[in-house]
Amino acid sequence: MRVLLFGRDGKVGAVLMGALRAAGHEVDGVEVGEPVDFDGFDAAVDFTAPSAVFGNAAAALSAGVPCVIGTTGLGEDDLAELDRHAREQRIPCFVAPNFALGAVLMMRFAAEAARSFPNAEIVELHADTKLDAPSGTAKATVARMGGDVPIHSVRLPGLVAHQEVILGGPGEILTIRHDTTSREAFVPGVLLALDRLRGLAPGLTVGLEALL
Ligand code: NAP
Repeated sequence: MRVLLFGRDGKVGAVLMGALRAAGHEVDGVEVGEPVDFDGFDAAVDFTAPSAVFGNAAAALSAGVPCVIGTTGLGEDDLAELDRHAREQRIPCFVAPNFALGAVLMMRFAAEAARSFPNAEIVELHADTKLDAPSGTAKATVARMGGDVPIHSVRLPGLVAHQEVILGGPGEILTIRHDTTSREAFVPGVLLALDRLRGLAPGLTVGLEALL
């Protein structure tokens, strides 16, 4: 596919540039402030910043280019607006709060555990460069656990992306933990999303589990 990558020089973007090319995609990268011509692209991928992602995705969708969005921090209103743009153009827009397979499984296990343990809290830990808190993954986990689960956010240098779901009951604690040790963890999920993109219904699809 011909892929336009927003966030070329970012921590995830730099890994994706090489990985998408190695997988056979033709990739053009865009950084903040650079002019964008959407002509001829099959998909746009965005790993930028909460302040940039909506504008990038809305412009791509309006130009008829389907989107794969990894940037977190989009609100419900933004997602509804992107859904509207995508439906108008009859193209898909795929958003995942976490492209790592292990994180998707963690959310699934946490949802199952919450049925037996009504008391739970989440600790999410990320690099101090992450701009939004709580993380998109933590919010998605809470939604899947039925809501009303407190989230604690830690931002420190040296961390990549980590989450613990701690469930407590009389005399026992169950901890479900996922660690992203390198940004390569996000590559298979992005490749899968690109592979499945054209087969998705027009409008918004959220979550890697929709593709598994
Ligand atoms: P990062 O290192 O800060 O990279 C973001 C890059 O995007 C920077 O190079 C930034 O340039 C660039 N950028 C900002 N605005 C732009 C624009 N309008 N057009 C094009 N490029 C723009 O951040 P990161 O760690 O790679 O993460 C990026 C986003 O992905 C964050 O929201 C993060 O939470 C999210 N993320 C999601 C997943 C997932 O699985 N869904 C995984 C990891 C990260 P400047 O430095 O010049 O501003």
